[in-house]
Amino acid sequence: MAGPTERETRAQGDLAQRLAATGFVLPGSLVTRRMRCGKANCHCHEEGAELHGPYLQWTRTVGGKTMTQLLSEDLVTRYRGWFENARQLHETLRQLEKLSAAILERDRREPSQARSRRNDNAQNSN
Ligand SMILES: [Zn+2]
Repeated sequence: MAGPTERETRAQGDLAQRLAATGFVLPGSLVTRRMRCGKANCHCHEEGAELHGPYLQWTRTVGGKTMTQLLSEDLVTRYRGWFENARQLHETLRQLEKLSAAILERDRREPSQARSRRNDNAQNSN
């Protein structure tokens, strides 16, 4: 088994630390929307009229269904960091997957004996 190099193992450790340090994470996305209201006689129903809002809309998937809720500016201010945490968590996870996939790919292409010899050479050159 060739597996990861020392450098790759260190990189995995760094990514794992970042994952462990993640705080609360909120799923889905926040978008700002302008909308028409339910009152038929409101100006917003006229063509080209200015719509109501902006409203902050939180969209996420719950049990396979897309769920959308409006959030107050106050809530968004309080919880925006948790959305940012989720974005960073996914980015770190993508890097970890990319790193892991590259190791498997290399093992798939190279016979493991040639690989471990190259590892030894790399270690000697340090
Ligand atoms: Zn309206």
